[in-house]
Amino acid sequence: MIVIMKYKASDVDVQNVQDEITKLGYIPRPAPGETRVVIGVMGNKPLRGRQHLEALEGVEKVLLVSTPYKLVSREWKNSDTIVRVGNVHIGGNFVTVIGGPCAIESYEQTLAAAIGVKEAGGHILRGGAFKPRTSPYSFQGLGEEGLEILQRVGKEVGLPVVTEVVDHVNVSLVDNYCDMLQIGTRNMQNFELLKAAGRSKKPVLLKRGQSSTVEETLLAAEYILNEGNEQVVLCERGIRTFVDHSRNTLDISAIPAFQRLTHLPVIVDPAHAAGKRYMVAPLALGGIAAGAQGVIVEVHPNPAIAKSDGPQQLVPEDFKKLMISIEQVAKAVGKTMA
Ligand code: PEP
Ligand code: MN
Repeated sequence: MIVIMKYKASDVDVQNVQDEITKLGYIPRPAPGETRVVIGVMGNKPLRGRQHLEALEGVEKVLLVSTPYKLVSREWKNSDTIVRVGNVHIGGNFVTVIGGPCAIESYEQTLAAAIGVKEAGGHILRGGAFKPRTSPYSFQGLGEEGLEILQRVGKEVGLPVVTEVVDHVNVSLVDNYCDMLQIGTRNMQNFELLKAAGRSKKPVLLKRGQSSTVEETLLAAEYILNEGNEQVVLCERGIRTFVDHSRNTLDISAIPAFQRLTHLPVIVDPAHAAGKRYMVAPLALGGIAAGAQGVIVEVHPNPAIAKSDGPQQLVPEDFKKLMISIEQVAKAVGKTMA
């Protein structure tokens, strides 16, 4: 339920409505807007008290939310959320590009990739220190040593950094080293991790589960917002389909579907969708053309010897070419580079 206050309702009225919501056994979540206050009614109990709230002084109307999620919805907040990662913006009319290696392998490898990203005009550096791999025999990441390298390189080249956190126990550790937490596709419904990320003050990059619907993804994001962290970016990274020409299928249709329902920014990850280098640029550009507010791509100085995802990583030179094309497509759809 959402209580919409009248235009310029007094502070006393707004407080009174919140007190009544509390008395009904729910938690009030006010969102002050430019012209009026909207109050979310949070709680797991069946809805009651609608008529009572509607009759209170200063109340314009009470809406029943038609979706199972609330805080991520455009009913709750219509204007696009702009997420801040360091001094970089994601969302609204901006196109933001995140680049960097799949995994942090060494200082030298990370630095070479980061210089390539920075020189081409990329905005945020990525790199995994904890790698959730399908096989237990694959490279699992350097752990804290990888976090140290990523943080150091980010500072040296002047880019904020994003890295994946794979369990709730490690959120505070990863938090110490990064500007943005990433939750990967395999963990999209790891609810303890979502809640812990929600309690962090860092923005969160939430990847769509590889077999999750748009609604399930929004409910996963709702867990983070429900803990008080509104700085969430959604990422379409490909879903499982029957095709065998690519690793996954980048679901371009999910971009407008998300944007109709949520105020949160949506970016695309063409590399993990395709699993093949030659598809990365076309899918990235297709995503931006369809309205995505950013791209995350993997950049490695020598993909042939990469410890993970070699076949889909771009060399810095190809990343540079892609940046030029992204800028052209962004301009064509009325967006500006962040
Ligand atoms: C990644 O970005 O490093 C990654 C593992 O992606 P995903 O969770 O989408 O597979
Ligand atoms: Mn990867």
